Amino acid sequence: MTDIIQLLPDHVANQIAAGEVVQRPASVVKELLENAIDADATEIKLIIKDAGKTLVQVIDNGKGMSVTDARLSFERHATSKIKSAEDLFQLNTKGFRGEALASIAAIAHVELKTKRAEDELGTAIEIEGSQVKSQEVSVTPTGTSVAVKNLFFNIPARRNFLKSDTVELRHITDEFHRVALAHPSIAFAFYHNGSELFHLPSENYRQRVVHIFGNKTNEKLVPVEEETEVLKISGFVGKPEYSKKTRSEQFFFVNQRFIKSPYLNHAIGAAFEGLLKDGYHPSYFLNLTVDPKTIDINIHPTKTEIKFDDEHTLYAILRSAVKHSLGQFNIAPVLDFEHQSNLTTPYNYKNKAASAPTIEVDRSFNPFADEANTKPPSQHRQFKKAPAASWESLYVGLESKGNNKQEDFAEVAFESDSKTESIFSDASVETAKTTFQLQQKYIVTTLKSGMLIIDQNRAHQRVLYENFLRHITIKEATSQQLLFPLQLHFTPGESKIIKDLKTDLEHTGFVFSGLSEEEITITGVPVGVPESEVSIILEQLISDVQNDVPDANFSATDLLAKSMAKSLAIKNGQSLNGTEQEHLVNSLFACKEPNVSPTNRPTFITMKVDDIEKKFM
Ligand code: ADP
Ligand code: MG
Repeated sequence: MTDIIQLLPDHVANQIAAGEVVQRPASVVKELLENAIDADATEIKLIIKDAGKTLVQVIDNGKGMSVTDARLSFERHATSKIKSAEDLFQLNTKGFRGEALASIAAIAHVELKTKRAEDELGTAIEIEGSQVKSQEVSVTPTGTSVAVKNLFFNIPARRNFLKSDTVELRHITDEFHRVALAHPSIAFAFYHNGSELFHLPSENYRQRVVHIFGNKTNEKLVPVEEETEVLKISGFVGKPEYSKKTRSEQFFFVNQRFIKSPYLNHAIGAAFEGLLKDGYHPSYFLNLTVDPKTIDINIHPTKTEIKFDDEHTLYAILRSAVKHSLGQFNIAPVLDFEHQSNLTTPYNYKNKAASAPTIEVDRSFNPFADEANTKPPSQHRQFKKAPAASWESLYVGLESKGNNKQEDFAEVAFESDSKTESIFSDASVETAKTTFQLQQKYIVTTLKSGMLIIDQNRAHQRVLYENFLRHITIKEATSQQLLFPLQLHFTPGESKIIKDLKTDLEHTGFVFSGLSEEEITITGVPVGVPESEVSIILEQLISDVQNDVPDANFSATDLLAKSMAKSLAIKNGQSLNGTEQEHLVNSLFACKEPNVSPTNRPTFITMKVDDIEKKFM
């Protein structure tokens, strides 16, 4: 038999490598920004069109490339950043694989312009799908511009796989945040479809955090500073009362590189133990500096994971440093939501007595040893009971059968007009007398033919969902006026999402008096929605829009109703009195589709007497 192994042609190898390096436009953004930083740029401009699908361009004022280097930069394994394998253990640059440009050029139209300070003229190169189309001398400023157009033009499957512009832009913005936060001394500008999303001058770290996340962030930051032999920590954690339902403000940088580390995240959680409400996540923006020899960043192609030599020590130092900072600021337990003026006392680390930091390194710590002791605080269930009055009022309108809105409702809203047939035609017969709550999670009730077990959270979601959908569709909801207007702060991108949903939100009962890039003023909320929940609802909504939007047949209305239902539904673990239980059961079976939650999960199960009898045989 003849030999059958062949070497893959370069352009094929590059396309394969591209599959690892470039998942979406945001990956291109990351690679190009990192190259600009490695080139010692002090100003970097990011320009994108159509969420990066049409164009991703990065312009820097860095050191540029010679004619030969410009051509070589597109070869695979072409890098100026390491020369030998030993260099891998001393990395001070972002890149080192020499794969990014080659990969990107294999799956897009790339235009490079570059010039070094010492050269009079620069170089312009055009490449399409690994083919060099032209290389010319060019008049161009010192630095480099890389424009990546029509990403995945030769891989339709990948192109079709891309998500909506909202989702892709979110990924790009995330990458931009990470790079910009890691390098506050570099000036950045970011444009999307011609409008400026960020303009960040060279500044200090606090200013950078505030610039990105909005002016209101300033007062919520608690400085964390610690220096030991193995680790230097600097940065901020958010005060517990500003903790979020989402993890959107959690940043670790190791040697100025953004990393994800569930393990270190857990250390922060441990430091916040007891200070956070259930389901809330602390914000943090922390820079860790360690000896490059003690880490291995080479384990993942997109390089957001990292291996530390001595994770346990880092964990202990980090936990203790954050705890110390929280203590220093006399951070009161989260139950007190009033603003405390003593929290804003300026903190000056340098004036601290020069005593050695008291760090307890728990040598015996083993994250896998004892689940119970090491659970992050969010897993300790602490439940908040909504006041009964507001709980009841969530049903306003639902039971009022005489209400003439009911007719309009019947004509609009739902796909299936016929009320779903309950498995038991006698569903409501006995509920009133005999409901009880199991594990503060299920409502159990008897039927003539057996037993009904209802998931209280899902059931309530269904009830609220249909209620909201109805309000939105008939464009008429009752609103409750707030005594004082509520001002909420968002990033421009987040405000945009609220703006897009404004009309629908108004139909649920929200009243907006101001909607600017950073600030949203609310003067009215839907009846029954507690004021304290408003920011949570909107945050949840924003994160749902950003993350969960399926591209096809996306309906903003439906998403809004689902999201609000999710935010406001009674949670598992909340105890309900007899009347509340009964009310929920009745409301559920008054729904058009009582069988499933808004996300299509069963709301109840049944157990027939026959089945029970079989079990006793
Ligand atoms: P890596 O960054 O891993 O070295 P890349 O494919 O991203 O690999 O880049 C290849 C080489 O091209 C880099 O090592 C660098 O020498 C050069 N290069 C890329 N982008 C720039 C830039 N913006 N300015 C100067 N040189 C650059
Ligand atoms: Mg690179």
